[in-house]
Amino acid sequence: MKVAIVGCGWAGIAAAVRLADAGHDITVFEMAPQPGGRARSVAGADAARPYDNGQHILIGAYRDSLALMRRLGVDPDAVLQRLPLALPYPGEPGLRLPPGPPLLAFARGVLAHRGWPLNARLGLLAAAGGWLARGFRCDPGLSVATLCAGLPAVVKRDLVEPLCVAALNTPAPQASARVFLRVLKDALFSGAGSADLLLPRRPLSELLAGPAAVWLGERLRLGHRVQALEAGWRVDGEGFDAVVLACTSVEAVRLTAGIAPAWSATAGGLGFEPIITVYLHSPGSALPSPMLALRDGPDAPAQFVFDHGQLGGAPGRFAFVVSGAAPWVARGGCAEAVLARALRELNWATPPVIDKLLTEKRATFACTPGLVRPPARIAPGLWAAGDYIDGPYPATLEGAVRAGQAAAQGVAAEADGGAGSGAGTGAGAKGAASGSPTKTP
Ligand SMILES: Cc1cc2nc3c(=O)[nH]c(=O)nc-3n(C[C@H](O)[C@H](O)[C@H](O)COP(=O)(O)OP(=O)(O)OC[C@H]3O[C@@H](n4cnc5c(N)ncnc54)[C@H](O)[C@@H]3O)c2cc1C
Repeated sequence: MKVAIVGCGWAGIAAAVRLADAGHDITVFEMAPQPGGRARSVAGADAARPYDNGQHILIGAYRDSLALMRRLGVDPDAVLQRLPLALPYPGEPGLRLPPGPPLLAFARGVLAHRGWPLNARLGLLAAAGGWLARGFRCDPGLSVATLCAGLPAVVKRDLVEPLCVAALNTPAPQASARVFLRVLKDALFSGAGSADLLLPRRPLSELLAGPAAVWLGERLRLGHRVQALEAGWRVDGEGFDAVVLACTSVEAVRLTAGIAPAWSATAGGLGFEPIITVYLHSPGSALPSPMLALRDGPDAPAQFVFDHGQLGGAPGRFAFVVSGAAPWVARGGCAEAVLARALRELNWATPPVIDKLLTEKRATFACTPGLVRPPARIAPGLWAAGDYIDGPYPATLEGAVRAGQAAAQGVAAEADGGAGSGAGTGAGAKGAASGSPTKTP
């Protein structure tokens, strides 16, 4: 089949590779001058040291993303620094998971965390045991704050809130407990190494987008923003047997408004959360570890800081991540506030200065309780892929990759007469061909 893929982020790349490997003739349209979407590098004054469009963290549980990197000739062990999960705060060792079977590692890590009183450690273990006993499932209408209301305050402050905002990019009172539990299940309780942090040692575009562009060659049309999609299927007037919309949800809403209004309306109902990344520069400085957790507050933005010098990147470059950044987008002054807290709380060899501020206003969809996400299948021959498609995960690289693979599998199954029956890879391949919305189960 001749298949058009609109968008060359991680979802589009995953769909393209799966379809091409199955022998289909693919064309990938990408409106930007480079592939990668939100997970791309951003040029700086020094061409050899681009910035990441926001610091990204992968974890050991990202199996499909890691396999896709390998498929494109990227060695994850070379481009990612694998570290056992640890959440050190400035001057505090924080929670650290030792190696070993996940359940045991979690219990040992929590019990060994001397920064928390014993009753807090036991309270967390009891709550985790309850989640495990219930199969990490809960009422879809529950928020993370409500789910964790009974936990000791230090556990909420030092573990639940930073993990929630890091994984779901949505503050605990507004975040979906169901999705949070699924992330915990897959990260903390799904096999050795799943919870490991995988921190990029190379610029973000080198992880997947750059190698994908080389692999795609002339099948990738950069700088082409798809303007119109007509049933049949025609992409800007060019005929295709099937189309995968792997663009942002906002663009998918526009392109499907006249073809599949119900699907378009569901996708259009998503809200968004921003992320701000503030890069500070301080030659000669180093953090005690490549990543530190920070306690954010009304005047102290950022939940994490990363030392790029320790990650094979630009020495003296520090990335402060402000997730759930809506209040800072509204009030401004985020970079100055980050600099002020950095001076207060961290030790510097030379005075840090603001290097770069990157604001992604639509970094992720707002992952709220009871959220209805659009299904992967829009209409026969028309599929959607992206981190926002109905599925168990929040907006992540792994969610995007799985959605891309599911859409590709759906296209191929339809061609074989299976009408999408083979597309259930866990990233939201469920849904109705009519374009009617499917509720998150
Ligand atoms: C600052 C920041 C930090 C993040 N941190 C993490 C993290 O630590 N870990 C993690 O797992 N995830 C993280 N994410 C989320 C992750 O980046 C996304 O989930 C993922 O990149 C989404 O991929 P995608 O392919 O679904 O969408 P996108 O990356 O948005 O790709 C869509 C592509 O479609 C193109 N496009 C749009 N419209 C058209 C059109 N009409 N024609 C042609 N092309 C079009 C766009 O240019 C874009 O390239 C972060 C995101 C941000 C912004």
